Amino acid sequence: MKRIKSTTKLTFFTTLLITSLFILLYMMVVMDINADLLHKGINYSYFGASPTLVILLIITSALSYFVSSLIIDRIFNPIRLMITKVNEIGNMNFSKPLAISSENDEFTEYANAFNKMSENLKSHIERQKRFISDASHELVTPITVINGHADLLLRRWREQPEILDNELVIIKSEALRMNELVEGLLLLARSDSKKQVYKFERIELNKLILESVSDAKIIFPDFEFKTTLQDNVEIMCDELSVRQVLRIILSNAVKYSGSSRQIIISTSKTHSLVNITVTDFGIGIKEEHLPFIFDRFYRVDDSRSKKTGSSGLGLAIAKEIVTAHGGELNVVSEPGSGSKFTVILSS
Ligand code: ADP
Repeated sequence: MKRIKSTTKLTFFTTLLITSLFILLYMMVVMDINADLLHKGINYSYFGASPTLVILLIITSALSYFVSSLIIDRIFNPIRLMITKVNEIGNMNFSKPLAISSENDEFTEYANAFNKMSENLKSHIERQKRFISDASHELVTPITVINGHADLLLRRWREQPEILDNELVIIKSEALRMNELVEGLLLLARSDSKKQVYKFERIELNKLILESVSDAKIIFPDFEFKTTLQDNVEIMCDELSVRQVLRIILSNAVKYSGSSRQIIISTSKTHSLVNITVTDFGIGIKEEHLPFIFDRFYRVDDSRSKKTGSSGLGLAIAKEIVTAHGGELNVVSEPGSGSKFTVILSS
């Protein structure tokens, strides 16, 4: 069945309404005239001049049809524009925003909200695309290395069994790197879709920090980790995740330490908040990079980071975890002097 457009229906009903009103008005005038004639003692019923009535009716209907279709068309025009835009966005076409009229009415409000939504959607899709492309790019390197070394083993290990150990170590370390990368990507993907599960418990902060530092001392025996911790407090957190944050920040302090070998871990308390600060005296970060270091895959020095096996995901993951705890992760840094990363959590 053919669908009748809302505008046609509205125009038809408006015309019908105006014409009916006209007839009603006309009847009232006729009744008034008749009452007047009766009052003057003239026994004559006036029903109006029929041809004039018909002409008036036609003119009224035509006029009301014309005027109401104009008005309704004007009212529906922004809705038509919106339908076109929604269809365009449905086809992933974000080329032009919805035109905003100068009148400050509901449609302007709607157009503003719509454009904001479309802008957010566009940047979200772009971020997703960049994320997938960066992730694939990062995964290609370990896969290529594993493939190359596995090929080498297949070709040569019978004649040169001494290469076996070395090649397996390389394959194992690349597999570990790939595993770390995939774990990081999964955490970020789960966080994006609000599916990352945190198990919040009351944890003794100093114990958690001292254990993390002692792990770091084992992994980086050449470094001096100095702790200045305030009175112990308990915090509500997912212990493993907060340990992961400290691991990321401590290993960055080591990776970007330059010639310095000292790292200081301190805590302080302000009202209901605790600050965990990791200070290094390494290469520091130039101011222009600071706004981006928490972005996924952002590396200040690509070649240096790649040499250290860095992925550029560490701080993005740390920030994600801290934010999920309702906290903050801040940095102050000076090139050549070092950096200070502060995790703020509620106690
Ligand atoms: P990566 O895996 O490359 O270390 P991160 O997300 O942990 O990735 O860090 C992003 C970038 O921030 C690093 O590539 C590095 O350039 C910079 N950065 C992080 N921590 C420090 C630090 N303590 N000192 C100097 N630069 C740092």
